[in-house]
Amino acid sequence: MPDAHQRAAALAAAIFESPLKSPAEWEKKFHPRALPEGAAVTRFAPSPTGFLHIGNLLGAFVDRLLADRSGGVFLLRLEDTDKKREAEDGVSGIVRDMRDFGIGIDEGVVGFGREKGDYGPYTQSQRKEIYHTYAKALVEQGLAYPCFCSAGELDALRGTQESEGVNKGYYGKWAKCRDLSIEEQIRRVQAGEAYTLRLRSPGDASRKIVVQDLIRGKLELPEYDMDVVLLKSDGIPTYNFAHVVDDHLMRVTHAVRGDEFLATLPLHAQLFRLLGFKMPKYAHIAPMMRLDAETGGKRKLSKRKDPEAAVSALVRAGVPNAALHEYLATVLNSNFEDWRRANPGAPLSEFPFSLKKMPPSGALFDPQKLEDVSKTVISRMGAEEVYEQALAWAGAYDHELHDLMLADEAYTVAMFGIDRGGKKPRKDIARWGQAREAFSYFFDELFEPQITDKPEILKAYLDIYSVDDDKDAWFAKMKSICEGLGYCPDVKAYKAAPEQWKGHVGDVSGAIRIAVTGRANTPDLWAVMGVLGEARVRARLTRLPTAVPTGCA
Ligand code: GLU
Repeated sequence: MPDAHQRAAALAAAIFESPLKSPAEWEKKFHPRALPEGAAVTRFAPSPTGFLHIGNLLGAFVDRLLADRSGGVFLLRLEDTDKKREAEDGVSGIVRDMRDFGIGIDEGVVGFGREKGDYGPYTQSQRKEIYHTYAKALVEQGLAYPCFCSAGELDALRGTQESEGVNKGYYGKWAKCRDLSIEEQIRRVQAGEAYTLRLRSPGDASRKIVVQDLIRGKLELPEYDMDVVLLKSDGIPTYNFAHVVDDHLMRVTHAVRGDEFLATLPLHAQLFRLLGFKMPKYAHIAPMMRLDAETGGKRKLSKRKDPEAAVSALVRAGVPNAALHEYLATVLNSNFEDWRRANPGAPLSEFPFSLKKMPPSGALFDPQKLEDVSKTVISRMGAEEVYEQALAWAGAYDHELHDLMLADEAYTVAMFGIDRGGKKPRKDIARWGQAREAFSYFFDELFEPQITDKPEILKAYLDIYSVDDDKDAWFAKMKSICEGLGYCPDVKAYKAAPEQWKGHVGDVSGAIRIAVTGRANTPDLWAVMGVLGEARVRARLTRLPTAVPTGCA
């Protein structure tokens, strides 16, 4: 009579017919990394089930920071084992969103169909062989068994458990297939019956395990006692099994993920132990929340309800990725904004961020805050950078604007340079999608002339206008034409006796502003006119038709 070990080996051989590498071979191939002591290996492991939203990025952002500050590695792994839930352009969407997010990926999936690094493949659907090696090892040790229960039987089991008021799931006495004889298991496997591979859990829910979470501290959780599915009936692993194997073989040291995985953390701890792997450090982050427009209450940011929080939507709107990073830093640690005020020019990587200071309950996604942060980020950029980024955005989303910007680079850079660089730079745009609205009047093709009811002001000004005037001379000229036109050159004096004047110098410059820009509000008019240049200013001051008196159609 063969002993238990031999019988388990026979079962493993019946389940895994094709030759597989041994665990030792994989261990050797994916050897421990040669990294300095303390270097963090982090991974972002999205499933291609839909688009990424800003809440998903928070995890990836933390991964990047952890790797950066320790001289480690950040890798991207695609968890595509659930083909039923996979969105049509799920994979390309992730690749595109990550590229647009601009945090850099050291290893893993670095482009559509492109992987980089020695620990791959980094796409779970291409790692079946690896998972099977470890699943087989568990079967050989009597730690996994085939379960022949059909979906219908499992439904019925849940129903019974519900009516008896006990925990639902496949465990203990409810785990029917757990106690089938190995001979029967082999016979049914060989007969071609459908089966899943389940863990034979040694867990006991009355005992506790302790896990240190990097955000939440010490967690005491009941042991996991469910015989969960490791391999589905098509041989594809579940997340629970696959990520344990992957995090081990990719030599991940820090796993940052959503707190919805806290419930299965004891299972994962158990799997790491049974497989003889060291568990990475976990950081469970709370999902980003949103104020619900209808109920006014807080809810999780949702792919379905919040399409504007999708990375692709933010990119289309032209939010620079530096602004996304900066915004996420404010979400990450509440002391970030004080640090930023004290270190306005410092690179983000210098911020001493702390996982312990992360909010254990979900931070609120605040689009207005993102807009404000983005305005500040753009206001700190140099004109050249604004030009480069706005041009790249327009190249994708506003071709007319793109071509105009490209036609005269120096002119467009000068335009973006107005009111930039000083102590209080102008914060006129929060995203590149606002560039057209903010700057269109600089381009004759987009300029919308306004009819003026004060043609005499334009005429008088045109006579003395000189493009060479510095700001003081410019303003002095503006004042010099006031009295002749019936406007007070001094605002205070005007306020003392408004009945004596048609208006004051502000109204004179306002009329000129409207004539040359078509707007009542612009950045500094002298600077704007300087960029527009003499020919354009003269043309706009001249071309304007005389006012059509109101009431005469
Ligand atoms: N694929 C999982 C998800 O998209 C990732 C979980 C993890 O990071 O371990 O939710």
